[in-house]
Amino acid sequence: MPREYESTSLRDLLCGSISEAHVGQRLSVCGWVAKRREHGEHLAFLDIRDRSGVVQAVVEGSVDVKSEYVVRVTGTVTPRPEGTVNVKLSTGAVELSDCEVEVLSLADVPPFQLDDRVEIDEQVRLRYRYLDIRRDAMQENLRLRAKVNTALRRAMDAQGFCEVETPLLWAPTPEGAREFVVPSRLNPGEFYVLPQSPQIAKQLLMVGGFDRYYQIARCLRDEDLRADRQFEFTQLDIEASFVSQDDVMGFVSEAVLDAAEVATGVRPGEIETMTWAHALENYGTDKPDLRFDMTLQDLSNVFATTEVKAFAAPTVKALRVAGGASFSRSKLDELTEQAKGLGAKGLAWFRVSEDGLDSPLARFLSSDETAAIAGLDGAGSGDLILAVADEHDVACHVLGAIRVTLGSPPVGDGPYRYVWVTEFPMFEGVDEDGNLQAAHHPFTMPHPEDLALIETDPLNVRSQAYDLVLNGWELGSGSVRIHRADIQSRIFRALGISDEEAEIRFGFLLGAFRYGAPPHAGFAFGIDRLVAIFAGEDNIREVIAFPKTQSGADLMTGAPKSITERQLRDLRVRIDLKGK
Ligand code: ASP
Repeated sequence: MPREYESTSLRDLLCGSISEAHVGQRLSVCGWVAKRREHGEHLAFLDIRDRSGVVQAVVEGSVDVKSEYVVRVTGTVTPRPEGTVNVKLSTGAVELSDCEVEVLSLADVPPFQLDDRVEIDEQVRLRYRYLDIRRDAMQENLRLRAKVNTALRRAMDAQGFCEVETPLLWAPTPEGAREFVVPSRLNPGEFYVLPQSPQIAKQLLMVGGFDRYYQIARCLRDEDLRADRQFEFTQLDIEASFVSQDDVMGFVSEAVLDAAEVATGVRPGEIETMTWAHALENYGTDKPDLRFDMTLQDLSNVFATTEVKAFAAPTVKALRVAGGASFSRSKLDELTEQAKGLGAKGLAWFRVSEDGLDSPLARFLSSDETAAIAGLDGAGSGDLILAVADEHDVACHVLGAIRVTLGSPPVGDGPYRYVWVTEFPMFEGVDEDGNLQAAHHPFTMPHPEDLALIETDPLNVRSQAYDLVLNGWELGSGSVRIHRADIQSRIFRALGISDEEAEIRFGFLLGAFRYGAPPHAGFAFGIDRLVAIFAGEDNIREVIAFPKTQSGADLMTGAPKSITERQLRDLRVRIDLKGK
């Protein structure tokens, strides 16, 4: 870091910058007392910590400072006496001697030790987040995040994208997630929603002639929280005009690979692409983790005319677990429970040994069936074969989940395996009212070859939607959009949205499309997830300064909280907790 950014009115250098090059100079540093060690009655060693690291200050005479006091220390940079050099510290060859210590701020005893090596309960960390983020690990994670953001901005700027901020107070949009609602004081009884994404706004920017838009955008969704999901999250949101799916994938790849290079020091090669159908068939999921093989094998043909009831199903998928024959019975029961929990009728297992297959089902199999299982995917003695027979999607999903359970390393463990998944279906199943559900969102353009199927065979309509996946986590999704009113109406109708309802909900968008909408496409991916993986964390809370707990609470501020009667009256909101 150039020195001019370090010096301020109070300090000359950051603690971590002090080195042998400064020996002899009298310098001031500011920071927190990380550690204090006494050496007899009149000599104290203080470790002074700031955002850059730690430097040791040697103080003679009595000094009244405790851990986490904020101090300004002025001392002479001196080589450490022989034998006391600390090679683990960047400043370990020197110390500040002959120090004057000025206390800038007192500190209570912190509720936990600010030391990365100490395991601290997450509830306590979140309650005192301002202390938690003083620790090295959180400092590194949040700084990594800033670096990634900068790399993304740079990549988008370099590709001619213009950053535009879109509103946080917005109208409901139909992307499927539950929205946060904000009552309008000036229009009692009416509400804004916080955007689940800038989707419609960015499409309007295309109508507005922006051609290439991006934003590091905050999105809000009132959905159950998980390790990879918070109410509010940040995405790199982009949209471009006169482009194809490949163009968009190219823009995004460029940004992601730049960010990867900045974060990990290595620029990954080109990102591979696979179709959704291929991903489902081979990995049992639309977010395949390619860091390990264990692909699903299809035995449907072998079992097409089976006599074994457990295998009489449209699809039979199987998986070889190398060395899995040693799994205990209780481990196999656990996997069977997992399969059932995911909707399968059961999970068949076969231990492969020198003498053939060991399984309660083995004696019912025909010789062809036995041979197919025993020879699956190069199986040998000591392996385990797992199989699920069911409807196609169930068999794939269940075994795909078991594959992940048995094979996936923690998400942040290298190598980093990026993959584009393309040709998603346009619709995924039907809701309780019998209406089709959009797999991505209703503004996604169907595959040009499948337009004729929208009314006749909707579940086989492919879309021009694509996802980016890294190590089994979905980073983000995007699509070529519908820019033609006639196709948009057909999709709305297929989704059970009447013309009237469409007009009420997004008349403004359809209206805009009547004034010259360029063909356009876009994408958005989660920066929290990307940074978490780069940071080697499997929970995005570790890369967010002030996250919420799983139950949506901010333990530090106490939010969500009640508001005053007066505020409620202004908003004309009445609380009804009956039955709660
Ligand atoms: N709006 C979509 C999302 O947030 C992304 C996109 O289609 O651009 O998932």
